[in-house]
Amino acid sequence: MEYTFDKLKQIKQSLEKDKTLSASEIKKKYLNKDGVLSEAFKEIASVEKDNKAEFGTQINSLKKEILDILEEKKQEMVNYSTTERIDPTAPFDVNCSKDFLHVLDNKGTKHPIEQEIEKLTDIFKAMGFAVMESKQLDDDYHMFESLNFPKGHPARDMYDTFWTTDNYVLPAHTSTMQNRALKEFSIPIAVVLPGRCFRNEATDAGHEHTFHQIEGVYVDEGISLGNMEAVIKSFLETYLETKLEVRVQPSYFPFTEPDCEFIISCPFCHKEGCSICGHSGWIEIMGCGMIHPNVLREAGIDSTKYSGFAWGFGVDRLTMIKRGITDIRYIRNADLNFLTQF
Ligand SMILES: [Zn+2]
Repeated sequence: MEYTFDKLKQIKQSLEKDKTLSASEIKKKYLNKDGVLSEAFKEIASVEKDNKAEFGTQINSLKKEILDILEEKKQEMVNYSTTERIDPTAPFDVNCSKDFLHVLDNKGTKHPIEQEIEKLTDIFKAMGFAVMESKQLDDDYHMFESLNFPKGHPARDMYDTFWTTDNYVLPAHTSTMQNRALKEFSIPIAVVLPGRCFRNEATDAGHEHTFHQIEGVYVDEGISLGNMEAVIKSFLETYLETKLEVRVQPSYFPFTEPDCEFIISCPFCHKEGCSICGHSGWIEIMGCGMIHPNVLREAGIDSTKYSGFAWGFGVDRLTMIKRGITDIRYIRNADLNFLTQF
C-alpha cells in the first residue's frame, strides 16, 4: 500500500505548485467529484487495515490544506475589493497612490481646446481684433436668413444640425454671429467670434458632432481679397510658427462672394508630402471670402461704400495639425492620459 501514500505525497507536491491558481481552478482540480483528492478518498477502501488511520489523517490534513488555501484566496479578494472600491463620499485619503495624486494636482486645469482658443484669440487681439463669443443656441434668422440663405434655399441642406422642438438651432457654424457682429461694432469692424458648433453626422477620425470654430469678420472701405489673404496668412504663420505658402481657391458659401478655400503649404513637410497633408504637400485650412453684399445690407451696412471679408476655421482641426493629433475623437473622450499631455 506504499503506492497510495506515494500518491498522497504527489498530491501534496502538486498542490504546492498550484497555490497560484484561482480558487475555482483549485476547487475543480482537487475537490470536485472527479478531483484529485476525491479520487484519493476512494483509495481508503484498499488501504491495509494497519495503515488506514494514518492514511485517513494524511488525506484529511491535505483536505484542510486545500481549504486553507481557498480561505486565504477568499480573504485576498475581500481585501482587494475593499482597497480598490471607490467611495465618492469618502474624505481625501493622503495614502492614495502617487498616480492619483498627480491627477488631483491637475484638477481644474483648462481643457486643451480652451487653452488653444485663448492662444488663437490672443494672436488676433495682437492684430487689433475684438473678441465676441458665439451663442450655443440660436435661431433660424442668424443661422440662415441673415446669411443670405432664404427659406427653402437648397444650401441649407449643407448644414445638418440639431433643432429644439420650439425651433431653436444648435449652430452648425460660428457664422451665426456675423449679423450680430456687423451690427454691434462700428466701422472699421475687426472681430473674431469663437464658439461651439454642432453637426448631425456620424463621427470618425476627422469628424465630430461637436467642435469649435473661430469666425472672423473685417469690414472697412476699400477692402479686397488681398487684405484677406494677408491677414489669414499672418495669423497662421504666427500660430504654426513657420513661414507658409498660401493658395486661395474657389469654394461655395451663400454668405460670401467670391467664396474661397484657404490652403497652406504643409508646415510639417514643406510640400515634400507626409501623412498630415495626405502626401499632397498642401492642407485646406478654412473657408473664407468677401462678405456677400446681401449680408452687409441685412446688417444695415452700405455695401456700395464698404466691403469686407470673413472666415471660419475649426479650432479642433487646427490644434490637430499643430500637435500632430490623428483622431479628432481624442479631444472629447475625456481620457486623462491624453488630456494631461497638454
Ligand atoms: Zn505634409
